[in-house]
Amino acid sequence: MTIPQTCFFRDSYKRLTSRSTNFKDVSFYYGRIEMEFLDSHCHLDDEKFDIDREKVIPEIYNAGITTFVNCGYSLHGSLRAIELSKKYDYIYATVGISPNDLSTNWSKDVENIDEILKKEGTIQDNKIFQKEGAIQVEKVLQKGITKQNKKILQKDQVIQIDEVLKKETLKQNKEVAQKKIITQDKELLQGKEIIDNGEISQAKENEVRKAKIVAVGEIGLDYHYDTDKEWQKQAFIKQIEIANKYNLPITIHTRDAVMDTLEILKQNPVNKKGIFHCCPFNRELIKEGLKLGFYISVAGPITFKNSKNAEEIANLIPLDRLLIETDSPYLAPEPVRGTRNDPRNVKYTAQKIADFKNISIEEIAKATYQNALKIYNIQVC
Ligand SMILES: [Zn+2]
Repeated sequence: MTIPQTCFFRDSYKRLTSRSTNFKDVSFYYGRIEMEFLDSHCHLDDEKFDIDREKVIPEIYNAGITTFVNCGYSLHGSLRAIELSKKYDYIYATVGISPNDLSTNWSKDVENIDEILKKEGTIQDNKIFQKEGAIQVEKVLQKGITKQNKKILQKDQVIQIDEVLKKETLKQNKEVAQKKIITQDKELLQGKEIIDNGEISQAKENEVRKAKIVAVGEIGLDYHYDTDKEWQKQAFIKQIEIANKYNLPITIHTRDAVMDTLEILKQNPVNKKGIFHCCPFNRELIKEGLKLGFYISVAGPITFKNSKNAEEIANLIPLDRLLIETDSPYLAPEPVRGTRNDPRNVKYTAQKIADFKNISIEEIAKATYQNALKIYNIQVC
């Protein structure tokens, strides 16, 4: 076992090594092809997952969907997304109030999104913490729940110190090596104390586990239902301001509101750009969205037999601006349309786009993974 030098305790180091060794550890089999996927937009906090969420999430990960972004759409939904991002190393969160979730209290809800970001921090704020300290403690927490696991911890500790020594001795810099060992020992001890106290409370776990908020969303305009357009516009603009304040991209939900959506984006530039989620079947929106520097995330409807212009739409999106998503538990793609959707089904959407673009599904998987890491500013190690 080789432990990457920069992330001794990162659970996802397996992902990193698996990428460089043709997905040896985490594999997804689609026919005879092995690959990894990133679902750029899902709602695993939805009540449809209440009966088996804990069981199904690791299953999804082990099926090769090795990163997923759980999007908030209301105040409560945003808080639930944050909790999932704290609990699972490979889940990231977005926070925002969608146009379909605006109540008479919408202004207060939007203010609360600002408060949440202030309190929890963004992926950027928590990146240093994650890399340099909490990862060690997190790993200890994960491994240290039972006494038997202490042995594993000790073993890992030895391997880790050995690695540092090997590396630093080669550099003939023993002092640095010693310093590093002392720091790492401290962090490990901190974790051990938590174990020795017996059962780990949720509160303690939350102390060391940080939120991973990667965007403000889903936000936007939806004129499909008879809702107040003025509220929607104001809430959209206010949340763009919040995204700019925290240096985050946005995730856009737009339906039957092409012109107003584009107008708002032109009048209120988003510094970190963003994503049109659930790719709208509208040429104008895609063309203009791309011009504004946005990414387009394609969901299940591209596979629907009655989707008009699906091929044309897929081909309008260049590979370097394409993302894929499930929007689970909704919008299950063909051939599982009508069932509860989950991120594993992202493969059907990927396959459909690959067919339309006449390239391999591996190319789609790889490009969409990299694009999502880029726009959401996620480093998988
Ligand atoms: Zn959604």
